[in-house]
Amino acid sequence: MEDGLPVCDAVSTKIKNYIGGQLVEPNNDRWLDNYEPATGQVYSQVPDSDASDIDAAVAAATEAFQGWSQLPGGQRAGHLHRVANQIDQHFDELVKLESRDNGKPESLCRAVDIPRSSINLRFFAGLIEGYASESHAMPDAINYTLRQPLGAVGCISPWNLPLYLFTWKIAPALAAGNCVVAKPSEVTPMSAFRFSELCIAAGLPPGVLNIVHGSGTETGNAIVEHPGIKAISFTGGTKTGRTIAAKIAPTFKKYALELGGKNPNIIFADCDYEQMMETTLRSSFANQGQICLCGSRVIVERKIYDRFRKDFVERTKMLKVGDPTESDTNLGAIVSKPHYEKIMSCIELAREEGGTILCGGHSAQINGRCAEGYFIQPTVIEGLPSSCRTNQEEIFGPVVTLQPFDTVDEAIDLANDTEYGLSSSVWTSNIKRGHEVAHRIESGVVWINCWLVRDLRTPFGGMKQSGVGREGGLEALRFWTEPKNVCVKYL
Ligand code: NAD
Repeated sequence: MEDGLPVCDAVSTKIKNYIGGQLVEPNNDRWLDNYEPATGQVYSQVPDSDASDIDAAVAAATEAFQGWSQLPGGQRAGHLHRVANQIDQHFDELVKLESRDNGKPESLCRAVDIPRSSINLRFFAGLIEGYASESHAMPDAINYTLRQPLGAVGCISPWNLPLYLFTWKIAPALAAGNCVVAKPSEVTPMSAFRFSELCIAAGLPPGVLNIVHGSGTETGNAIVEHPGIKAISFTGGTKTGRTIAAKIAPTFKKYALELGGKNPNIIFADCDYEQMMETTLRSSFANQGQICLCGSRVIVERKIYDRFRKDFVERTKMLKVGDPTESDTNLGAIVSKPHYEKIMSCIELAREEGGTILCGGHSAQINGRCAEGYFIQPTVIEGLPSSCRTNQEEIFGPVVTLQPFDTVDEAIDLANDTEYGLSSSVWTSNIKRGHEVAHRIESGVVWINCWLVRDLRTPFGGMKQSGVGREGGLEALRFWTEPKNVCVKYL
């Protein structure tokens, strides 16, 4: 026991589901292997839960909803702060655990993933305390809008930012008064498992949050299809999002989908070159390029194209691919063997399509304990038309393409020339041009002279095939509540 906590069994064999406040094994006693990507070794077992586990979780959530939804917002906020305190108190442990499970550098978990997980909970705790609904006055009547929680709801999250995106979904759902059945990715289940122990230690009432582990097609699908689940918030691939949307359509459940991207990074010759270069290295390769917001298409004004290519390739070659536990590692391991193979096949496709590999293009061999891990050199490709698959399909790895442009119109045409529309970056010191591009670009998020600067109050999500609906701030609280208009006639 540590601080009255159950002992974290992160390195032992079996992860448990968290249902009705208890840590339980899956009913069917089926398990999936959980790999450490940096070593390629299995290091734990994940429940391969089925519909019966989801039935139990939905029943627990439905029962807990009566009490939780009636609590004043401030009391729900208090619970979220207590869970956030647990994250803060176990910060170093969570950093190591997340890095081990995902393959990302510990330094990234320390700077981004774990702090943000705690901030997500605190942010929505604060927001719910100040949340007010609208009223509309008429000459003889007043309308007010109640915003009531939905009931038992489902949250399904991906592997790239495991605890960060998991908490980003559940925090507003819980703050708004819903009870949650959540499924983390089966590829990175460990931090959500540890989180369930921290919820118990924080005294979160049983059934308010239920975490059920398992595959997408069985466990995830059972959440989507369950008639007791009133809404689904999903983050993952566009193909999966399409499947989920098709399943939900006939039921008229609410849904929000945060999907894939093929984000442009537009660089004008008049930008602050050093700032742009430093940020473009990050926006291309942070988290091994496995952030939905990474800029995978670097679109550069021809006037500086040669200079940019030379400097960018030189700087990319200096990035260290290595053991995620080492403090000077820039790129850790790719999250899984299948994803590693997918990225390598995308690089092969780029070669077949006639692309020139300027650097990288191969796996990276790391000696010692990481010799069997899934590492790929950061890869820069040029010479491909916008229409080719390499420039159209999401790779979600440390691979970017370079494309030159001459005019603003051409830059915008290139940027908008995909089915995706999640985020974009624009680099220019001409403020008028920055605004013009921001207005004409088709993406839900536009950064001018920066990348990944986040204010949690802003709407977050994608256009086109990158998603439906928005997360963040009041958008999230609106999604997780049902507006009901009440009209009172007083004359
Ligand atoms: P994925 O779609 O394979 O899986 C995401 C989650 O959905 C996992 O928990 C998975 O088990 C579950 N799932 C899979 N099939 C399901 C089904 N039929 N029914 C219900 N649940 C199912 O995605 P991934 O490979 O884990 O994540 C990578 C993708 O996520 C990339 O495309 C990336 O761009 C996207 N992503 C988007 C955002 C965003 O905010 N837009 C953020 C992070 C990641």
